[in-house]
Amino acid sequence: MHVLLLGGGGREHALALGLAADPAVEQLTVAPGNPGMASIAELRSVDPMDPAAVVGLAVETAADLVVIGPEAPLVAGVADAVRAKGIAVFGPVAEAARLEGSKAFAKEIMTAAGVPTARAVTCTDEAGAAAALDSFTPPYVVKNDGLAAGKGVVVTGDRAAALAHARECGRVVIEEYLAGPEVSLFVVTDGEAALPLLPAQDFKRVGEGDTGPNTGGMGAYAPLPWAPPGLVDEVLTSVVHPTLAELRRRGTPFAGLLYVGLALTADGPKVIEFNARFGDPETQVVLALLETPLAGLLHAAATGTLAAHPPLRWRDGSAVTVVVASAGYPDTPCTGDVITGADRPGIIHAGTTRRSDGELVSAGGRVICATATGADLAAARDAAYALVDGVRLDGSHHRRDIAAAAVDGRIEIPGR
Ligand code: AMP
Repeated sequence: MHVLLLGGGGREHALALGLAADPAVEQLTVAPGNPGMASIAELRSVDPMDPAAVVGLAVETAADLVVIGPEAPLVAGVADAVRAKGIAVFGPVAEAARLEGSKAFAKEIMTAAGVPTARAVTCTDEAGAAAALDSFTPPYVVKNDGLAAGKGVVVTGDRAAALAHARECGRVVIEEYLAGPEVSLFVVTDGEAALPLLPAQDFKRVGEGDTGPNTGGMGAYAPLPWAPPGLVDEVLTSVVHPTLAELRRRGTPFAGLLYVGLALTADGPKVIEFNARFGDPETQVVLALLETPLAGLLHAAATGTLAAHPPLRWRDGSAVTVVVASAGYPDTPCTGDVITGADRPGIIHAGTTRRSDGELVSAGGRVICATATGADLAAARDAAYALVDGVRLDGSHHRRDIAAAAVDGRIEIPGR
């Protein structure tokens, strides 16, 4: 199989590792990719937002499967263009990707499908936002309606800060605060059949103890030793299948990766958000444990044959990833700083590039993801932090508490 993968972050490095390890893959091209993937794939430059350019590269590389990593090309209709050319593509068409591209659309689908989620109001001006805030109790949750790279959400007890965010964004969704531990559940689907991957947890806030602003994600682990038995089946029944059915009913089936972000509340699991692609950095830990060949799985979803796919196989044990971020992240990340110690197995590149003299330098906020597996969560955690200790990047920062509460048995589900 010839595979073309779009994207250049940590998620795509993890996807590239999985695709390259699939014996069915004869040729792997990544556009634009990053230096971490240079030894396992051919890297090409393409504008991932340009449907015609992506189709051109897919034809040139005789791709049997195109895998779209990030959300922006999906929302821009790149999957539609590849599909129209008759090439199998893993990633939903633009109309279905609106599940991620518009928080208001996602709420509309959830309401129509009877999916448990936070009560929400869509507001388009400050007066509407002010009235909506008064209909909720703090903490307030204000979400930019459009794509914001995981940073469009403000959760705050400060009404003035909530209102300021609404003013800056314009169109927002204001919703009820959901109390309870969060779970990221990835579901591979062809629009009808759905195969769940292992549940994972990520860490959105920049600071230890979940403090500071939201980021794209500072670390993750899988599986969740504290998850109630039956959680995945419950979410498939209450969330995934009704959502897929609603999108089929509208004539825009969702094929690709449905990311369900949940809070486990006292009233059961409720949806915090949908994404239309693999989550970053949860992908790094989930795929580290997947034994089933990845390209075959994604190809089955892309070609509507997932119902015939064998059950997924998983490695025993756990996986942990810790993000090393550049100075200034998430506000104004420093770039261009030399990185050393990033050439070891388990170091997934997220924001790196090669300088003209060949040195590896930082090129984004989240720079590398130190990813390790272990016999249990504690062992995986120790191994991931040992990898972090070997990386040198001036001014970098990382959270020291990734997976710590889970290892210590400190995660509580309200009402249990
Ligand atoms: P989102 O981009 O919708 O995933 O939101 C980013 C983060 O904000 C989530 O991972 C949660 O930590 C937090 N968040 C979003 N919506 C809510 C909510 N309704 N209640 C509590 N926390 C939320």
